[in-house]
Amino acid sequence: MSLKSHDLEEKATQTIFEAGNEGIFQSELWKRLGLNSRDGSRIAQRLEERGFIERRKVLHEGRWTYKLFSKQKKVDLKSILDTPCIQCDDIDKCMIEGEKSPINCGQLDQWINLNSY
Ligand code: SF4
Repeated sequence: MSLKSHDLEEKATQTIFEAGNEGIFQSELWKRLGLNSRDGSRIAQRLEERGFIERRKVLHEGRWTYKLFSKQKKVDLKSILDTPCIQCDDIDKCMIEGEKSPINCGQLDQWINLNSY
């Protein structure tokens, strides 16, 4: 994938995310990104295949089209305030390849399992 294509996918992802729960008509997204419908549809399909967005078929002004919705959620600071890491005595020693690590931490695993949707 070229850098240009990667940049366009990032811009598309961000624009769809900013549209929030309302979503955005794909034609509006193409306009904002300066794409034709063929290239725009390819980007939307790739983003959907990767699980970043959802495309919903909708009837708009008498024609079927797609509306695009982000599947990414905003992170709320409150959602992480009760992680075990916040009050962990080992946080200074915790690192990916260390003896204490988020990779194999039972406390963190348990918290993630309890807070997964
Ligand atoms: S991952 Fe586990 S060991 Fe590391 S800081 Fe969080 S709770 Fe502590």
